[in-house]
Amino acid sequence: MRISDDRYSRDRLRFDIALQFIRHEARTHTIRAWTGLSDDRIRKLYRSYLCDCRGAPLARHRGKSPQQVAYFMRTGRARQEAALLASLCRLLGALPLGPAPELERSLPCLARGELLCQAYEAYRGLIPEGLISFEHAVFLVTTLVRGDELILGGCRDCSAVLIVDRWSLRAPRCPLCAADHAQLAAGPPRSAAGSAAPELAMAGAGSPAAGLAA
Ligand SMILES: [Zn+2]
Repeated sequence: MRISDDRYSRDRLRFDIALQFIRHEARTHTIRAWTGLSDDRIRKLYRSYLCDCRGAPLARHRGKSPQQVAYFMRTGRARQEAALLASLCRLLGALPLGPAPELERSLPCLARGELLCQAYEAYRGLIPEGLISFEHAVFLVTTLVRGDELILGGCRDCSAVLIVDRWSLRAPRCPLCAADHAQLAAGPPRSAAGSAAPELAMAGAGSPAAGLAA
């Protein structure tokens, strides 16, 4: 009886996670990898979800999942949103504290899938028009766990969480500290000599993904 209860709970969780992945427009092979459901079960689940769902139809993405880490570094906004999403993944436990390449194969699982959905929903709650798709979120977590191209690092001045090139020789600055640094380098304003810069530096101190609100 106990075994069948456990199995029922696990199957229920499997379908719940698959439905959440479908809502986030994940590709079929991603859903299969994270839930262990067959393609046929996923298709049936997708059809039944569409029958129940009275909202706008979901986009179905085909082809390969994202594979270019440059996506997260291409603009300041992409870097900031990736840092925010990675911070949420870490806070909720979807991402280990540091690179853990030994976890890459076991990364897709129900428990982590559930945490990843929670982190992604929090991210979209904070930035409804966010750049990062759910498939890119899966790719970001995988990339950071692998740790051979991008890692989570900190601003060299205030320790705000940043996505950092694994091979960069010097820690970068967050946008707030970079702006502060540029202002200091340019010299004090002629009218009010050097009063604003220290306040800007304090605004980003110690906060994850500083500069997002700026
Ligand atoms: Zn900073």
